[in-house]
Amino acid sequence: MKVLVADAINEKGIENLKEVAEVTVDTSITPEELVNTIHEYHGIIVRSRTKVTKEVIDKADNLKIIARAGVGVDNIDLDAATEKGIMVVNSPESTSITVAEHTMGLLLSLARKLSIADKSVKEGKWEKKRFMGVELRNKTLGVTGMGRIGSQVVNRCKAFEMDAVAYDPYLPEEVATQMGVELTDLETVLKKADFITIHVPLTPETKHLISHDEFEIMKDTAFITNCARGGIIDEEALYDALKNDKIAGAALDVYEEEPPAEDSKLFELDNIVLTPHIAASTKEAQRDAAIIVADEIINLFKDGTPRNVLNMPRIDNRTYQELSPYFEICEKLGSFISQAVNGKIKDLEIVYSGELAKIDNLEMLTRTVIQGAVNPFLSSPVNAVNAALVAKERGINITEGRKTNAKGYESLIRVKAKTNSDQFSAEGTTLHEARILKVNDYWVDVIPKGHMFIAKYEDVPGSIGSIGTKLGEYGVNIGIMQVGRDEAGGRAIMVLTLDKEIPTEVIKEIQELDNVYEAIGLEL
Ligand code: NAD
Repeated sequence: MKVLVADAINEKGIENLKEVAEVTVDTSITPEELVNTIHEYHGIIVRSRTKVTKEVIDKADNLKIIARAGVGVDNIDLDAATEKGIMVVNSPESTSITVAEHTMGLLLSLARKLSIADKSVKEGKWEKKRFMGVELRNKTLGVTGMGRIGSQVVNRCKAFEMDAVAYDPYLPEEVATQMGVELTDLETVLKKADFITIHVPLTPETKHLISHDEFEIMKDTAFITNCARGGIIDEEALYDALKNDKIAGAALDVYEEEPPAEDSKLFELDNIVLTPHIAASTKEAQRDAAIIVADEIINLFKDGTPRNVLNMPRIDNRTYQELSPYFEICEKLGSFISQAVNGKIKDLEIVYSGELAKIDNLEMLTRTVIQGAVNPFLSSPVNAVNAALVAKERGINITEGRKTNAKGYESLIRVKAKTNSDQFSAEGTTLHEARILKVNDYWVDVIPKGHMFIAKYEDVPGSIGSIGTKLGEYGVNIGIMQVGRDEAGGRAIMVLTLDKEIPTEVIKEIQELDNVYEAIGLEL
């Protein structure tokens, strides 16, 4: 495996990567050189200097992963990467603690007027009365956005004996309760809080989330910090609120325009603390970003699934651990039924039952089923990144269902494919390894691996023997045989694992045998 490190990252990440890959570090590579050489690499690590454009991605025939050591991915064409099935990962958690600590610094600086006190002492003054502060203890922290950073700020504020109220319409109530935070609406947060801290992404919904009306609601003694993104606080409204003592103070790390204009009105004010978008800038955050993206690549090359994949559904670590035993069976079930059903799949129905059905986000498993189902027929590889897109392009309608009853198993996954003329289903789980337990209506127990063969036949004496004989004539040895039937003398199914691939002419000959309805060869 070859990895190109195209921007400067911490040495520790490179060191780790070298254990699994041949690493080329070229941090001055030009856009032309990148287009011309990208086909040689399986992975690339960038920060913000290198632009991974559509032109680069079009030439990236072997690339599996684009890793951004850091957060923003404006320099990567996500759509082009998704279309080509290339994962894009970043390291959002690398900066969480660093930004949370910076926020704490700003909160303390506001409470104790540190930055103006510092300036005053350096001017030769000794203005003890002017810098009367307030404690954080017993004050209410108002958080907007209880994600990675917001929750770390809450943890730290708890150590300062603060109470916390939060506004985050996307956070489940029970998660907030676990964090010891009262979840409420924005108005209540703004009314109650002594210290307001912003940790939401900048979206159309959060643009000027805090403007004139919101400052009106706040306590006159309130302080506000923004280490998230410029534009979430309306700077015009902030200036008015600070100038007119509508609130006590503010601290910003991010601005509507960066850097702010030299004549920004905010610079006139004493009750504001300003830092130059450095909340994420610590040695530890840079080191962690490099280590995290290197780990993501190592994980992928060792057949795992990276966690922070931007063009796949985001799942938390716990959910990932719960889902990971089922990736293999999902892929096998998809592949099994798509090879077994006749015609072009129109509908793919996936039903999860038992413990799996209790997990909120099963999209990774669903995508893995789709990947298995479409891969046997497509020349360009389909993976969990582009699976949903490919299914859509091929007119496959995907439905996902859940059932509580897993028929005695901990979890079961049933995949059913429908075409214009046929339908086929298989059900499976993981029992140490991937197992198919039901094919259509027949219970079996099959390890879906290697060369396989399915025959649907009439359950009469001699049927099984004639199929076995035909395989024997062509030197195809049967490894494992499973048969299932609805009733004696009725319809039956045989699922075989073979020691070598079954030639097409043998399948045809078996198909023509008396009592055989259908014969299908599969490669899993
Ligand atoms: P995150 O995705 O983990 O958390 C964001 C939270 O905001 C989520 O819980 C989400 O549910 C919530 N949210 C989304 N829309 C909302 C809305 N309209 N109202 C209320 N809550 C809403 O993100 P994070 O990693 O914690 O980052 C938070 C912010 O910090 C982002 O804006 C990010 O860009 C910024 N950031 C800044 C720096 C810096 O250098 N200053 C560094 C890293 C991150």
